[in-house]
Amino acid sequence: MSVDVGAASADVYVAGKKVSAGRQVVRNPARISEVVGHVALGTAAHVDAAVTAATGAAPLWADMRASDRADSLEAAAVVLTSRIDSLAELLTREQGKTLWEARADVAGAVSVLRYYADLSRALDTDEVFRSDERGTICSGRRPIGVAGVIVPWNSPAYLGFLAIAPALAGGNTVVVKPSELAPLALSELASTLADCLPPGVLSVVPGAGEPGAALAAHPQVRKILFTGSTETGRSIMRAAAGTLKNLSLELGGNDAAVVLESATISDELVTELMLGTFAISGQVCFSVKRIYVHRSHWTTLVEKYCDAVDRLVVGNGLDPSVSMGPLNNRRQYERVQGLLTDAQDRGADVRALGRKADEASWPEGYFLLPHVVTGLPDSAPLVAEEQFGPAVPIIAFDHDDEAVAAANGTEFGLAASVWSDDDAHAMSVARRLQCGTVFRNVHRAGASDVTMPFGGVKQSGIGRMHGLAALEACTELQIVANYQDVTHLSRPPWAGD
Ligand code: NAD
Repeated sequence: MSVDVGAASADVYVAGKKVSAGRQVVRNPARISEVVGHVALGTAAHVDAAVTAATGAAPLWADMRASDRADSLEAAAVVLTSRIDSLAELLTREQGKTLWEARADVAGAVSVLRYYADLSRALDTDEVFRSDERGTICSGRRPIGVAGVIVPWNSPAYLGFLAIAPALAGGNTVVVKPSELAPLALSELASTLADCLPPGVLSVVPGAGEPGAALAAHPQVRKILFTGSTETGRSIMRAAAGTLKNLSLELGGNDAAVVLESATISDELVTELMLGTFAISGQVCFSVKRIYVHRSHWTTLVEKYCDAVDRLVVGNGLDPSVSMGPLNNRRQYERVQGLLTDAQDRGADVRALGRKADEASWPEGYFLLPHVVTGLPDSAPLVAEEQFGPAVPIIAFDHDDEAVAAANGTEFGLAASVWSDDDAHAMSVARRLQCGTVFRNVHRAGASDVTMPFGGVKQSGIGRMHGLAALEACTELQIVANYQDVTHLSRPPWAGD
């Protein structure tokens, strides 16, 4: 089913009802003149209404058996499955990514919902960790309360559901705040899910910064799951400090790929390295953002890598011949252009590669060819900062220590990769990299599946999402000390025997 141009709408949706709000247009980054739909500009008042509804619904949802909640979420997943294809097309129009990438985003969201529904059934059983003649001590995981989920624009459906699903499955009620830059598919998925649940269990408040900041500061919100930039993460932490909220922060990265002397520069390696860099036009939190290569491989790697990148076709993501869509928004487009201009001004070798799918429509969107840059020092902004776009620096090193120091020489610590034929060599370097995930001979979405805890160290985040870790992050550990006999506990002398 194709989506009517301009018909889609991301509304404030509270307790099963649309709430009126100011709104702005959502444009297609591949054809900026095309209005894909409208997004409500939620305010602090909308957040307050949604949180009030979530607080009202919390006892009912929290007191249900986990397996009954799981049944509702699994039934909702069946409804959402029928929407995957139409919402994938909508996502390509609002976000820019290719249809293949958009389908993975939306289908991934639905499979995450199923995964957490299933995983959460175990919450019905408390664990006994000590049982003797004195009594039994049990532990169980309990809901935290109202959770605020704040989502970025790069993979909105998948990243939104990576937080919504464990939060709901853990027995929390949720208010989700999609990004104003790609709100349509996620809002549609979330409001459809909300309709399958008791009113108030899930509400949607799209908008710019205001509703996000209001969630972070709201006294009745106990948990924030935020995915986005490190800068906004800091601001959320400040706002959340007032009521000491439980925080999960998935933030920016500047991932290094380290190609060791023990690697073979095969076609397979080069293809994987290219996919890890340019998927979603480089707008992935754990894209390869810097490549360090042992000097013995420099010439071969740069040559073969540039050949692989040169095969990319850039254009409208709905065109099946296209392998890379536009950047999502003007700010991001200008930022990456600025980094490339800076690299040029520093005398670096800046190569624009790939080809345009359609020369005539090129000026209509935020299109940028994939760029490979050599000759930059580690201090140059394209190396030192998160570019979040299709431009990657390649830097030579002579010793592993040098590569490890460069890879770690940043306040980011999301992911990294080592490329090598030698298991022991790869592992020895991997252990020294300061980041939440190290891949070997791969570095892209899909290689970090939903069962693998994922998150950053240093200023790339706090906590882990994916897997059991996310369900734990969305619940509190409660101990029930069920003593039959307390005479073994020591008492102060004045209390008597
Ligand atoms: P962003 O921080 O600008 O926005 C993220 C969300 O926060 C949006 O919904 C935005 O409206 C909202 N927001 C803005 N100001 C706010 C405030 N003061 N308080 C609360 N919420 C506020 O990030 P972005 O540009 O949407 O996304 C790109 C960034 O996200 C990159 O840095 C990328 O690395 C990071 N990211 C990280 C992960 C991860 O898992 N670690 C995944 C995807 C993206």
